[in-house]
Amino acid sequence: MIVEQIWTGNAYRNFNYLIVCPDSGEALAVDPLDHRKCLARAKEKGWTITQIVNTHEHGDHTGGNGPMIEATGAKLLAHANAGARIDGVDRGLSAGDIIKVGKRLELLALDTPPHTMCHICLVSKTDVPALICGDTLFNAGAGNCHNGGHPSELYKTFAEQLEKLPDATLIYPGHDYIANNLGFTLDREPDNAKAARLLDEIKADHDPEHPLVTSLGLEKQINTFFRLTSKSVIDRLREAFPDLPNTPTPKDVFVRLRELRNSW
Ligand SMILES: [Zn+2]
Ligand SMILES: [Zn+2]
Repeated sequence: MIVEQIWTGNAYRNFNYLIVCPDSGEALAVDPLDHRKCLARAKEKGWTITQIVNTHEHGDHTGGNGPMIEATGAKLLAHANAGARIDGVDRGLSAGDIIKVGKRLELLALDTPPHTMCHICLVSKTDVPALICGDTLFNAGAGNCHNGGHPSELYKTFAEQLEKLPDATLIYPGHDYIANNLGFTLDREPDNAKAARLLDEIKADHDPEHPLVTSLGLEKQINTFFRLTSKSVIDRLREAFPDLPNTPTPKDVFVRLRELRNSW
């Protein structure tokens, strides 16, 4: 499997992706907002885009669908309930569905609310899995819930789905937010040496054209939203929420972190 990460360079800092079967050169375009860049990259590499998947219905993820379909005739895939929000969906995806790319490459669909209630993530069925996570999980961060459901549902998605993937899983988010998110991690957990080191490295040398690809194992060290039982996270959270119970549940911690992140 080839995962081609395409930096749009736009104000929203979107990443687009081409997921390619190396045997056949068939490609799945993920959220191809910058359809020109995606098409040019496919042409340059000799790949054929046959499918498009939208992780969710926000315009910065669906905005390239029309011209991309016009140029390639690709089929459009999205969450099974996204039909009313995304024009021209050919195939609705539910949890457990498989997307085939070429003859052998398979991606598993996860139903991952509530950044929106029609959000899917994809996990490749490869030796080292890749997680295409849209606006659900970011490098060192978590998606917002302004247009979807309650943060407790996002906790559920993290705890019951994402966290259970192998630590080696490679993380491919929908936006480049790593520098800002590491700042939040350090605001919440100032003694997180790993996050501090990584932020220094990124400040010195961060090129979204060639971004750092984290693993789930690394996220568990640098992403506050996976560090819900850390004593320093909890102690510092209590400064903002004096009513926090003595031994808060991971869900309590997650929901309050998400609340703080909204105004950070
Ligand atoms: Zn979004
Ligand atoms: Zn987005």
